[in-house]
Amino acid sequence: MPENPYYSRTDTSALRLDEATWREVLSEEVFYIARQKGTERAFTGKYWDHEGIGSYYCAACGNALFRSDSKFASSCGWPSFYEALRPNSVRYQEDRSHGMIRTEVLCGRCDGHLGHIFDDGPPPTGKRFCMNSIVLDFEPDGDAPMDE
Ligand code: FE
Repeated sequence: MPENPYYSRTDTSALRLDEATWREVLSEEVFYIARQKGTERAFTGKYWDHEGIGSYYCAACGNALFRSDSKFASSCGWPSFYEALRPNSVRYQEDRSHGMIRTEVLCGRCDGHLGHIFDDGPPPTGKRFCMNSIVLDFEPDGDAPMDE
């Protein structure tokens, strides 16, 4: 993966780069999803049936997006969450492409495309954030100190 000097897991300020710069700092597959609003094929991504305790970050900019406890088993073939880590972790916009009206989910920091949100998720929110694995980085929580 190319070196991305803009990637940060602590800086939450908005990140706006021109597309030529994004193309330089992102891998081809991350660029395709995040900047060109591509979609990975169902059941091919690294996280659709991934389990593990930790956090999911934006692969384009490092923004913290989801906690593993909001991830649920979904039959759709993409990693699915019922809520974002913080309300401003993501933003939403109407997507009328492909003859459908959907709500697109974008990274709250870099505005990269992440996926879509649907109303068929589980409690407590009833939402399903249907995300592309390629634009997520999972980081497991550090090992808890052992009790003697
Ligand atoms: Fe991002």
